Amino acid sequence: MKKHNFSAGPSILPQEVLLKASEAIIDFDNSGLSLIEISHRSKAFVDIMEKARALALELLGLEGKGYKALFLQGGASTQFLMVAMNLLEKRAGYLNTGAWSQKSIKEAKILDDIYEVASSAEANFNYIPKGYDIPSDYDYFHCTSNNTIFGTQIKAFPKCDIPMVCDMSSDIFSRQLDYSQFDIIYAGAQKNMGPAGTTLVVVKEDILGKVSRKIPSIMDYKIHIKQGSMFNTPPVFAVYTSMLTLEWLKDLGGIAGIEIENEKKARLMYSEIDLNPLFKGFAMKEDRSEMNATFNLVNDNLKDTFETMLKEAGISGVNGHRSVGGYRASMYNALPLDSVKALVEVMSELESKA
Ligand SMILES: *Cc1c(COP(=O)(O)O)cnc(C)c1O
Repeated sequence: MKKHNFSAGPSILPQEVLLKASEAIIDFDNSGLSLIEISHRSKAFVDIMEKARALALELLGLEGKGYKALFLQGGASTQFLMVAMNLLEKRAGYLNTGAWSQKSIKEAKILDDIYEVASSAEANFNYIPKGYDIPSDYDYFHCTSNNTIFGTQIKAFPKCDIPMVCDMSSDIFSRQLDYSQFDIIYAGAQKNMGPAGTTLVVVKEDILGKVSRKIPSIMDYKIHIKQGSMFNTPPVFAVYTSMLTLEWLKDLGGIAGIEIENEKKARLMYSEIDLNPLFKGFAMKEDRSEMNATFNLVNDNLKDTFETMLKEAGISGVNGHRSVGGYRASMYNALPLDSVKALVEVMSELESKA
């Protein structure tokens, strides 16, 4: 039986995407060859790469606005360093909203001076700091749009006179935003787009080429752009599957279409967390993530009963991250509303039992 998959990452993908991807592994497009045994320089694969790049820009509303989309390797974690290598000359400002922000800061600090414009570390990152200043003479500002582990999400991005870089690994393509306020957006595929193995990087070309350091080729956005995201062998299966998910999303009405579904799921989930006296939410209400809902049992004595009930209902992947504990329901684009209904049912059944 198919489970209700609330995994935080790698995470649920649309069933039809999994089906098409698995067919391509055996026989790609009736070619008699597998997708993963053909040259990445073949027309068949170059078309896939170009389509994936174009769809990413189209869905984000960034076509014709000076942006390029790349599908790179090394995960979002490599971008922590790559962003700094390409943009950091003297000093950059970072918003510290959780474990992933901290890691991005750590990597950038290897190269140069980093200033934390604000942090919510003192409250174990249960909120998003607001009202901070971003010095206009810095090289760039970096933030994390959605804090996968803590379940917080930036709702309004700061006005920023310098290039704004955003790690959107866990909420890319989930909500309507003016994406042109960002100069670099990056996201590991495995949360909301595809399998692990590729990272989408969307770069505004005119911010590049301004640092004095020598950048190793594999770390240089300009080289990846020049080579059409084919500087070296790309992760062909991850790119193809991501392309299928982007097509699926476009057919659903793009980000505007999926946003309506995501709001329904989040509303249902949080109303249960708020109304059910057995549970309490972790994140401050105004900063709650629509992708990852974090919550705890008020009384830990119910843990075993709750977890047995979850298992019986076919609900998988709701255990919280070790740094927060409790539970985390990840409600990425591909998660159906019915899965949230199933989880909420178990929570209310627990209340009627207790
Ligand atoms: C998962 C995650 C990462 C790490 O991505 P990798 O692809 O594993 O390097 C970085 N940032 C955020 C916000 C994440 O959720």
